[in-house]
Amino acid sequence: ALTIGIVGLPNVGKSTLFNALTKNNVLAANYPFATIEPNEGVVPLPDARLEKLAGIFGSARILPATVTFVDIAGIVRGASEGEGLGNKFLAHIREADAICQVTRAFADPDVVHVAGAVNPADDISTIHTELILADMQTLERAVPRLEKEVKGKKADPAVLAAAKAAQAVLDSGRTLRAAVPADGVEAEHLKELGLLTTKPFIYVFNLDEAALVDDARKQELADLVAPAEAVFLDAKLESELAELDAEEAAELLASVGQEESGLDQLARVGFNTLGLQTYLTAGPKESRAWTIRRGWTAPQAAGVIHTDFQRGFIKAEVVSFDDLVDAGSMAEAKSRGKVRIEGKDYVMSDGDVVEFRFNV
Ligand code: GDP
Repeated sequence: ALTIGIVGLPNVGKSTLFNALTKNNVLAANYPFATIEPNEGVVPLPDARLEKLAGIFGSARILPATVTFVDIAGIVRGASEGEGLGNKFLAHIREADAICQVTRAFADPDVVHVAGAVNPADDISTIHTELILADMQTLERAVPRLEKEVKGKKADPAVLAAAKAAQAVLDSGRTLRAAVPADGVEAEHLKELGLLTTKPFIYVFNLDEAALVDDARKQELADLVAPAEAVFLDAKLESELAELDAEEAAELLASVGQEESGLDQLARVGFNTLGLQTYLTAGPKESRAWTIRRGWTAPQAAGVIHTDFQRGFIKAEVVSFDDLVDAGSMAEAKSRGKVRIEGKDYVMSDGDVVEFRFNV
């Protein structure tokens, strides 16, 4: 599964958030044969469509798509020089597909701030700096190697050019994610180098409860990280919510002016940031959301259920969720001509409800 690594300075609320994420762990309950690492939190992607489908098909259970978060031990200033858990830390980030930075924006004088004061902009730049320094080190080793290999016709000159362009971006204090086309950094060519700052970033601002409804404050913080996505939550509140049943949790959320928990928002933003989407299947046994990459074709999507489905793919019967709900049943959707037969070149759309036909 694609994973999102959670990073941040010490004492910003990472563990509190991660504990809330793991209390929420859907994996144990719903996916008995899956394994989960101790530092992973697997959370459901909220999807109200599944309940509707389960109603239409009389499904015995609902299986949402999931998003996997990995807790990566605390980063400190100097991590790129191997201070603290430096190297191990960077290796863990390298394995993640996106980086979620938790930033402290709560005041609480009882919780010590490592830099002496609560300053989200400074904290974000501290983490960026460590990641930028790590990438600079990687490139300092890679560029001379690539130069040799290009001379010996063993490497693509475009990769060397991209690596040098990347060095210029990092030298200017920017992450590679923030590079613009004029920088000449071709992400495609950098793939093999395992650079950290090419990964998509998500920012979680851990706020005081009162600030959750302070739109001006949230806008100010969102502006710090745009165009990357920001999620606003109160980690303490999230850990309380994780202990409650659905009804109690909804009441508590409403009492602080929220419609949705921070974890649900984080799951959604994380899923989108990873470039994923879902399609749906439904029947008496279960209504289920399956995770695919955006742009995948019907046979690729079928392969997520079983490799045999991809290999023996014949066709897909597809109805959009909205058409199905309007019709009220699969039979009615069919008689209205809303169920399409799609072939192997069909590109899946979000919200497709699908049944695959295949040879075994
Ligand atoms: P980590 O070092 O980033 O993992 O931070 P922790 O999750 O261990 O939190 C550090 C301290 O801050 C703990 O005492 C938490 O109870 C407290 N804390 C975490 N989140 C919040 C929050 O949203 N509000 C307040 N007031 N305290 C928090």
